Amino acid sequence: MKRHIGNLFIIVCVLLTVAVWFVFPPVNDGREDFTRAYAGEIIGSINIVLMAFSLFISARPKWAEPFFGGLDKMYVTHRHTSTAALLLIFVHVLTVPISLTGWVLGNYLAVFAFTGIVATAMVSLSPRIPFLNRITGGTYEGWKRLKKLIGVFFIAGFIHSLTIPHPLDAFIAINWVQVFFIIGAVSYLYTEVFGRFFKKYLPYTVEAVKHPNLSTTEVTLRPKKDSIPRHRAGQFLFVRFPGKRTLDESHPFTFSSAPHEDVLRVTVKSSGDFTRALFTDLKSGMQAVVEGAYGMFDYRTGGKKQVWIAGGIGLTPFLSFIRDMDDLDKDVDFYYTARHREEALFLDEIQAAAKKNPRLKIHIRFSAVDGSLTVDEIIKNTGGNITGYHVYTCGPLPMIQAFERKFLEAGVPAKNIHFEEFNFR
Ligand SMILES: Cc1cc2nc3c(=O)[nH]c(=O)nc-3n(C[C@H](O)[C@H](O)[C@H](O)COP(=O)(O)OP(=O)(O)OC[C@H]3O[C@@H](n4cnc5c(N)ncnc54)[C@H](O)[C@@H]3O)c2cc1C
Repeated sequence: MKRHIGNLFIIVCVLLTVAVWFVFPPVNDGREDFTRAYAGEIIGSINIVLMAFSLFISARPKWAEPFFGGLDKMYVTHRHTSTAALLLIFVHVLTVPISLTGWVLGNYLAVFAFTGIVATAMVSLSPRIPFLNRITGGTYEGWKRLKKLIGVFFIAGFIHSLTIPHPLDAFIAINWVQVFFIIGAVSYLYTEVFGRFFKKYLPYTVEAVKHPNLSTTEVTLRPKKDSIPRHRAGQFLFVRFPGKRTLDESHPFTFSSAPHEDVLRVTVKSSGDFTRALFTDLKSGMQAVVEGAYGMFDYRTGGKKQVWIAGGIGLTPFLSFIRDMDDLDKDVDFYYTARHREEALFLDEIQAAAKKNPRLKIHIRFSAVDGSLTVDEIIKNTGGNITGYHVYTCGPLPMIQAFERKFLEAGVPAKNIHFEEFNFR
């Protein structure tokens, strides 16, 4: 239940915003288009509430993770609030009566905010818009840089609501919305300006760089000052390497080391610009900056019978589990699927862990040879009834989604299905 509180809270705030506008309506000053202006204000207010929550989530408040089920789930919410806010901006613009005479600051700010928010959002919705793609270079980092401006448009949008000609007289509703404006503006300033004085960015040195196969890099990081930050197996960090421009971007990776080790390890699959540069350019002795730990992917909070499924590089949280465990107090069926044997990582170590822990059963699958793993097969291996199991999945998004659907159909309660999404967009 706790992991749903965050989303419920957002929904309640949206509903309360509508209620406040109805319970404390604006004074009808007899203008011809009063109803349209009233409806437009309600929609604009919901937009501010949703954007405020998007900005709040972008600030990555660690304390809020339990109320959403982890930072990766918070980013899913962020995607929904941002998309809904974008759609509502269009509805707002179409609803409010626009007068082309008497242009004042409020109107100019409206155009500025509208254009800015729509342009920024479009970049993430469609990387194929040529002029926007040129601004961002077509990369995730470019999109992230452009996205930094969203708070400026948010602030402009709110000031617009206060400076439009002939605003509605709705003291209570406007003050209510102001609370969300403050939440959004403070979150934005925290993310972009003063958060760096509060957040812990810890200095590390790259101690070793290994390539367990032709597309993977294992990085070992040693803390320069104190010991490594407290974390649990299955969590993730953000890391960047300031010494080299192509590596000076903060990217999330799951710890593949165990929390008791005196170094951190991440295991990274080359999939784009940054991770490819990591493979070719990262050298031992380089500096690293680490932020974290985040995430709530933790098998220890699950039941006695578990199924773990790792697809490709989705192995990393399970590696951390395995490296962390002494005596496993659960019965675990661990499925690890890779396309070919050459792509599979740390097979010896996984098999050695299974020998040490009789309650850990390993099922390795090379999908190019043996076909794809199916949920039916997993259910069969559990004796035909999987409803009492906790399922942990990490891997490519389509795989996670397909497996989640099938497990739900097979009767596994939604609260027993845990997954880590390797994607924050
Ligand atoms: C919680 C979490 C844990 C992860 N753990 C691992 C791991 O252990 N090993 C591993 O190999 N990969 C992991 N990833 C994925 C890894 O972060 C991306 O593959 C990497 O950031 C891709 O960057 P790129 O520039 O090489 O690729 P790009 O082609 O630029 O990006 C590919 C996709 O990765 C995502 N991405 C890119 N940059 C960022 C960023 N700065 N922040 C967030 N997402 C980004 C975007 O969805 C993008 O579309 C994890 C991701 C998340 C969210």
